[in-house]
Amino acid sequence: MYQDRALRAAAAAPARLYVDGRWRDTERTFAVEDPGTGTVLAEVADASVQDALAALSAAASAQESWAATSPRERADLLRSLFDAIHQWVDEFADLITAEMGKPVAESRGEVAYAAEFLRWFSEQAAHRHGSYGPAPRGGSRIVTTRRPVGPSLLITPWNFPLAMVTRKLGAAMAAGCTSVLKPAPQTPLTSLLLAEVAERIGLPAGVFNVVPTTRAAEVSAALMGDPRLRKVSFTGSTPVGRTLLRQSGEHVLRSSLELGGNGPFLVFDDADLDAAVEGAMAAKFRNGGQSCVAANRFLVHRDVIDDFTDRLVERVRKLSVGHGFDGASTLGPLIDSRQCAKVAGLVEAAVSEGAVAVTGETAPRGEDGYFHPPTVLADVAPDAAILRQEIFGPVAPVTAFDTDEQALRLANSTEHGLAAYLYTRDLHRAVDLGERLEAGMVGINRGMVSEPAAPFGGIKESGLGREGGAEGIEEYLETTYLAVDLAAAGAGR
Ligand code: NAD
Repeated sequence: MYQDRALRAAAAAPARLYVDGRWRDTERTFAVEDPGTGTVLAEVADASVQDALAALSAAASAQESWAATSPRERADLLRSLFDAIHQWVDEFADLITAEMGKPVAESRGEVAYAAEFLRWFSEQAAHRHGSYGPAPRGGSRIVTTRRPVGPSLLITPWNFPLAMVTRKLGAAMAAGCTSVLKPAPQTPLTSLLLAEVAERIGLPAGVFNVVPTTRAAEVSAALMGDPRLRKVSFTGSTPVGRTLLRQSGEHVLRSSLELGGNGPFLVFDDADLDAAVEGAMAAKFRNGGQSCVAANRFLVHRDVIDDFTDRLVERVRKLSVGHGFDGASTLGPLIDSRQCAKVAGLVEAAVSEGAVAVTGETAPRGEDGYFHPPTVLADVAPDAAILRQEIFGPVAPVTAFDTDEQALRLANSTEHGLAAYLYTRDLHRAVDLGERLEAGMVGINRGMVSEPAAPFGGIKESGLGREGGAEGIEEYLETTYLAVDLAAAGAGR
């Protein structure tokens, strides 16, 4: 039954490349799976380097005319795309569940969140201004104006197949940049459906091109080696981000990188524990823990650790594990067998190091998907291996601390710096520690930080630049300074 619904969702999406406003076949194809059953949903066109370069040619040809459209025209198209996604919410939500696995209620949440970036950037498009002012010495004027960076390569991961795309595409479109999107090979269909919707609302050919491929390294190297490309915006793992940053040196590309995290979740002895557990459930188990802003390390004051852990376990036991279409599940499968094996290995290693594992519901009987039971790991030592890497799964390691300074030191002892969370009723502590946590985003008494109107991004090895917020569009704009000599024009002031 789930299989039929997943197959129907997949069949509603195009499975070809979208280049220059046309749908193209390729020599090779690759299979897209339903992680909830392991069955093949579709065979999708597999772009070669030549196909990707054709997409860049389309983006480069459309760049000048797209940049010349008025901000209002671009805003209207973004708004139409926002409206259209809302009309297609069922199709998008089913497709996200089919190819990525999350429960369909969560997929609907992602569709609304993804669309919101388009509305936000439609509102931003007409509000990018330059500046005008006298030079300090007088006699001339300093005028600055903004222009789009140019054709951009957008590379996205599989965990939020629609939102990770609209967060980049909305900003690029608003700024006046054309783009080539290379979606994750696990979830290309959602991007292709977005291209179809963009085509229907009348987005001009070449402004948005989509090239799914299994040859990511080859394709992106060729695109980044072509001087017509002016920007790369990547969301994914830190090792791949590092490679892209190195490659972007060749043509000095503008680079935005949203990379991995290792989020600390701090619970102090004065925290509202009900709220902290509620926040922990969202920060850890939403999307099956497969989120870059997921809480990865629960650091809890020794006086409340037993109480917090008991309440967390109680909630975790209520999670219902199953296929995203079963109507009851609140935790879906992981993306693939490799990720499942990785998470299981991390739990095993933590237990061998002395942690105590308490698991909730295990995989539903009779399902072949990539399920991992939600797990709380108690008594995790502060130097345990599991705390040094991104779990990307439904596992919550809990570690005790005694003082604020110790909590801060543990929280900051990572090369990552994406999201952090802290729960306390003490305003001084919240602000003081909030400012000293090495993270691009800090949730204070909140387990969710994502918000299209806020700047999303990391520090340290979690990335460069911000997406969303007023900052998001800046990543796609250059500043030009015009030095205007008034004396030569006959005015002396
Ligand atoms: P990944 O780095 O393996 O892949 C991400 C994208 O990069 C995919 O499209 C993939 O095909 C492509 N890619 C892989 N190798 C490449 C190469 N050599 N050159 C160019 N492109 C290449 O990551 P993933 O497994 O898809 O996603 C999980 C990771 O993404 C996690 O580390 C997570 O934290 C991170 N993530 C970060 C954010 C954020 O905003 N900071 C959001 C979501 C996910």
